[in-house]
Amino acid sequence: MNRDHQETGRRAESCVYLDYAATTPVAPQVAEAMSRCLGREGLFGNAASRPHRFGVEARTAVERARGQVAELIAADPAEIVWTSGATESINLAVKGAARGACGRGRHIVTSSMEHKAVLDSCVRLVQEGFEVTFVDPDFDGTITPESIERALRRDTILVSLMHVNNEVGTVTDIPAVGRLVREHGIVFHVDASQSAARLPLDVRQMRADLVSLSGHKMYGPKGVGALYARSSCPSPLEPQMHGGDQEQGLRSGTLATHQAVGMGKAAELARERLDKDAEATAALDRRLRDLLEEIPRSFLNGNQRIRVPGILSAGFACIDSEALLMALRDEVAISSGSACTSDRVEPSHVLNALRLSEKAIACSVRFSLGRYTTADEVGFAATRLSETIADLRQLSPGWAEEAMSGPQPRAQEPRWATA
Ligand SMILES: *Cc1c(COP(=O)(O)O)cnc(C)c1O
Repeated sequence: MNRDHQETGRRAESCVYLDYAATTPVAPQVAEAMSRCLGREGLFGNAASRPHRFGVEARTAVERARGQVAELIAADPAEIVWTSGATESINLAVKGAARGACGRGRHIVTSSMEHKAVLDSCVRLVQEGFEVTFVDPDFDGTITPESIERALRRDTILVSLMHVNNEVGTVTDIPAVGRLVREHGIVFHVDASQSAARLPLDVRQMRADLVSLSGHKMYGPKGVGALYARSSCPSPLEPQMHGGDQEQGLRSGTLATHQAVGMGKAAELARERLDKDAEATAALDRRLRDLLEEIPRSFLNGNQRIRVPGILSAGFACIDSEALLMALRDEVAISSGSACTSDRVEPSHVLNALRLSEKAIACSVRFSLGRYTTADEVGFAATRLSETIADLRQLSPGWAEEAMSGPQPRAQEPRWATA
């Protein structure tokens, strides 16, 4: 057994975890750093308490962690606001920036393939009288800077885009969008939840005013996140949480020392291991992709050339993704659409935004690999997947007919899927 698996306390042979885009396990180094904060001997003081040493110790730990998060994205520590997760960071960024800038205009630009936290924050703002343009990606899941530029208006106050899409893994050219957004003095928010442990991040190069991060998508704990808020952001952020005026008044509430320390340590590890992790994941991703392509009548969703390694969406003709997930549930953990909507079992809004047919969406699943994924796991998952698909197809009335219709073009841009 692989050492990393022993450290994370999970038996690899029992169920292979390929759902890193839904959440990542807490890295052992992170768990250790967090546990040092807990208990009577830990850093239990309130970071806002002064001048006693309990408060000072907690504050020192939280500030050190803030520095680690800042360093991951090349920001100044004073520009990092602790939150409870990317959902809260996004709410503060989108609603806070819109409400803070409403004197200058009421128009917002985002895309139809954003996370629900962005989409639903925008829907809320529409109810308050804001106007939102939801830009559709191309069929391959790319958002071009040109499509954003076309959507800008004289009264646009905010542009909000994700860096890496959590379902198909496509990467948006954030620096290019940032350049044109800044030229117009518009606030630019980037949801970097999926890119933080996968791609190098530099907020200046991105020309972002606001960047949302999530602890549990980068091997830190759940329930903590951060918002980068540029010191010279064109308009003030309206706080969403009121109380003790912590975090420069932007986010009241006693800081969770262990959570901040955990996210800080996770950020430090992500930075140290970025190249190594990215390289290993890229190799496993290529392997998985090759194995998936051997499965008859399979197709990949989204542009494969601008996809981040480790997030891969694939479909299999005549397979109901829910049935596939169910058949594999004790052996391989994958997901259909995004985890946040899978309990409602509605077609993925992201695949919908790519204009995939209902049929193609219903047979699509997402594989997401990460730091602890091994070649054995990928091999095992692909084998069991292939066998299970063959079994399910035997039971599918449509399959015989489908198989008779001859080979389909290898579907990078699945012709029958988007038709
Ligand atoms: C997971 C995720 C979020 C939400 O993050 P939480 O920390 O779970 O609130 C937002 N955006 C993207 C792209 C995500 O993948």
